[in-house]
Amino acid sequence: MSTLEEGTLRPPASADVLSVAAAELAGAGPEEILSWAFERFDRVALVSSFQAESIVLIDIASRLRPGVEVITLDTGRLPEETHALIDAVGKRFPIRLRVITPDPGEIESMVAAHGVSLFRRSPELRHLCCAVRKTRPLIAGLRDYDAWVTGLRRGQSASRQTTPVVARDDLHGGIAKIAPLAAWSHDDVWRHLRSRDLPVHELYARGYTSIGCAPCTRATRPGEDERAGRWWWEDGSLKECGLHVDRVSSPPREATG
Ligand code: SF4
Repeated sequence: MSTLEEGTLRPPASADVLSVAAAELAGAGPEEILSWAFERFDRVALVSSFQAESIVLIDIASRLRPGVEVITLDTGRLPEETHALIDAVGKRFPIRLRVITPDPGEIESMVAAHGVSLFRRSPELRHLCCAVRKTRPLIAGLRDYDAWVTGLRRGQSASRQTTPVVARDDLHGGIAKIAPLAAWSHDDVWRHLRSRDLPVHELYARGYTSIGCAPCTRATRPGEDERAGRWWWEDGSLKECGLHVDRVSSPPREATG
């Protein structure tokens, strides 16, 4: 029987079942992939960074399932333009928005031990900051869900080139991770945004091609990788914060550097 026709899936999801589903959905568009997710999982969260891909997914998902749950991470270091867009999107679309934040005690300990701008001092401290401000809050935030939806695309960077449409996510308790835009190009995303007259992050107009925390993101130059402006001072590092890799940094007291 096709995995597309079976009953509801609950975590921990079978990696085999999900890889068959990924193969069956390989040529599907984001509407079909999201419809499949909403039929197969009771509790689905769309995790949004409010970059271009997120807006496309919110537009499609909120039409398929009005009241869809959208989670965003307010790391405490976001640009003000991201906050403005969060408010605008929350008013425009029929979504239930959850803004999750880091543990204040962990932030306090980390800053006391390593300073406010620790991420500039070493890759280890950068990963620690991302773990405290992003990775661990999302692990806690996704605890009650069966599946999460992300805006990852294969064309964003070398490390994302093999992103499956659906996979089991062991970092988040074995729930399903769904990437409806995995096969979409940058142009596909922007074509959709323009055709639907959707709001976009103001920093794109200033040369940014990927947008995260303010101190760790810069505009990119022509010919650079889309994510080259993230942690640009790190030579040859994986341009990831940890949300999409199977690794979480140690607690603040164990950090070095
Ligand atoms: Fe910290 Fe920068 Fe990671 Fe944001 S992107 S969590 S400020 S290291």
